[in-house]
Amino acid sequence: MISKPDLTVAAAASPIIEMTGVSKWYESTQVLKGINFRVARGERVVVCGPSGSGKSTMIRCINRLEEQRDGKIIVNGVELDHTTKNVDVVRRDVGMVFQQFNLFPHLTVLQNLMIAPLKIRKMPKPEAEATARQYLERVRIAEHADKYPSQLSGGQQQRVAIARALCMKPKVMLFDEPTSALDPEMVQEVLDVMVSLAREGMTMVCVTHEMGFARSVADRVVFMDAGMIVEEGLPHQFFSDPKHERTRAFLKQIM
Ligand code: ADP
Ligand code: MG
Repeated sequence: MISKPDLTVAAAASPIIEMTGVSKWYESTQVLKGINFRVARGERVVVCGPSGSGKSTMIRCINRLEEQRDGKIIVNGVELDHTTKNVDVVRRDVGMVFQQFNLFPHLTVLQNLMIAPLKIRKMPKPEAEATARQYLERVRIAEHADKYPSQLSGGQQQRVAIARALCMKPKVMLFDEPTSALDPEMVQEVLDVMVSLAREGMTMVCVTHEMGFARSVADRVVFMDAGMIVEEGLPHQFFSDPKHERTRAFLKQIM
């Protein structure tokens, strides 16, 4: 007897992110050229590549901060199309951390963490505050809850930004060079938070040139150049035996 397909199992097996044939232009310049990119649930993917290769544009398309011209993007089973509803649904599931921390300067750390859960998730205030304090604890910033972003160091602000994204209980976290605006001595404290998230099984796409991070937590490394995914592989294979000449040239520069 053939049993009915189990939809829960099917949903769990489907990728959380599916980009198929995605292209994008700025004016007459094509910056993404037929990107096919899939991320499985629980997978940790590092995206690297030279400046201007389209890394930010690609991950910004995943939550519609940028809109593709061609191709299809499905996030957690919802297609990013022209309906605002779908875009809102997708954004709720996708947490994003930027190079510039993008905290609200006029709100305290705690308020920064509570605003989206209150306004978008309609979470009751006590629950939003409890969640916020829990994540501040997680990123070891709890004692700064009532400060304003400008009173914190860059590393602390970036940890607040990560905690803020986590308060929305995202299904996937996107990081766009989260440590590249930081003073060198603050890079590790942010990477430590990212490593612990990865170890706990958070699905992550990280644009970063921190190759130590890639080696220790990535399931897959993707290399982009000139709007295309040129090469991808397991970290040890990617670093020790890159197949493409452009990958080798890039790795030589950054390592
Ligand atoms: P990366 O993140 O790999 O450095 P980006 O995705 O930021 O690359 O940029 C890809 C290309 O698109 C670059 O040539 C960049 O100059 C161009 N670009 C990025 N954002 C814009 C924009 N808002 N308007 C016009 N061109 C842009
Ligand atoms: Mg970028």
